Amino acid sequence: MTDSHPSELRPETRTVHVPQPVIEGSRPITMPIYQTSGFTFDDPAVMADAMGRADGPFVYGRYTNPTVRSLEEAVSGLEGGVGAIATGSGMGAINTVLLGLLKPGDHLIAQKSLYGGTAAMINDLVGRFGITVTYVPENDPAALRAAVRPETRLVYLETISNPMTLVADLPGMCAAARELGILSVVDNTFATALLCRPIEHGADIVVHSTTKYLSGHTDVVGGLAVFASTELYEKVWHFAIELGASADPFAAWLSLRGLQTLALRMERHCSNARLLATRLASHPAVTAVHWPGLATHPSHELAGKLLSDFGGVLSFDLAGGREAGEKFMSSVRLMLLAPSLGGVETLVLHPATTSHRSLNAEELARTGIGEGTVRIAVGIEHPEDLWADVAQALA
Ligand SMILES: *Cc1c(COP(=O)(O)O)cnc(C)c1O
Repeated sequence: MTDSHPSELRPETRTVHVPQPVIEGSRPITMPIYQTSGFTFDDPAVMADAMGRADGPFVYGRYTNPTVRSLEEAVSGLEGGVGAIATGSGMGAINTVLLGLLKPGDHLIAQKSLYGGTAAMINDLVGRFGITVTYVPENDPAALRAAVRPETRLVYLETISNPMTLVADLPGMCAAARELGILSVVDNTFATALLCRPIEHGADIVVHSTTKYLSGHTDVVGGLAVFASTELYEKVWHFAIELGASADPFAAWLSLRGLQTLALRMERHCSNARLLATRLASHPAVTAVHWPGLATHPSHELAGKLLSDFGGVLSFDLAGGREAGEKFMSSVRLMLLAPSLGGVETLVLHPATTSHRSLNAEELARTGIGEGTVRIAVGIEHPEDLWADVAQALA
């Protein structure tokens, strides 16, 4: 049972080389945390070979690890990919993909409404790395075709945008990208593979902040990139081990643990969001509700085709503008004032004074975010408790 050492070894040596039980006849039910930074080999030739291969034996923690690989395979399988690279954060995954694929002089096309960190990252690529960018609407393949140049490498999309919850026309945009010979990268954080699988709609790479729904319990930061082809996976993998934005085994384990209840949580996030969106839509203090499940939402028809449900994030505009937005934020009792989303707790945010505070009034207007817009990342609490909190904060 135990891989023990000869008893002639001295205590100083025996304390270093502790026995490792060899597991035979049974196995752990849950994926253990492989808290080791490296792996040892019996055969030097196998070790030499492992160093340069994405699909080789485990070799070093920066490359991957059995716990991390379990998460990579789980999400890759859900997304319909051939392989995945787990990273230390969602931004780590996005940077791994963009830096791994772009070089100075390249052009990229991105949708107009982007997650703040991604928008900042692209600005940095443009400012410091000689990369150019053109922004197009998320649902306009003709604009994508018009924007493409000989040096265009990829188009970057988000399945559901923040905080206006616009849905990207993945089939149209990814098909146009393929025709034009450019790659499509889709951030599927808001939808997860349970609501939408971008690879089935033609995406080449899917990126995630596993910090959000995939982990789901507001206790871990992580990211992941899933690849539709082995060639792309291997290309980015070679860059990923150089970049070193690797996932930690404990973080990967927390994400795996969260993932097991993803389907149950998503169902509740979506049904809670439906109840809040529907009631907010008929509240006199509210001028508009942005949630793709509502017939009034500009993406409603597309969302009905692309998504199996409409997601757990919604935003709404208060008639009273900035003052009403700030008042709402200071009046909530149950919902927590916080950025981020996808956890079991409901979080509220006033974009104009927090996540989008660097935008001036004109830029805000262009994104569709009003001074009185409030975003709710709906949790899995009882919907009537959530509504009671929203109603009292509006009153
Ligand atoms: C949070 C988020 C990110 C960044 O992920 P981190 O884990 O915070 O680095 C990227 N895209 C979207 C849509 C997000 O919500």
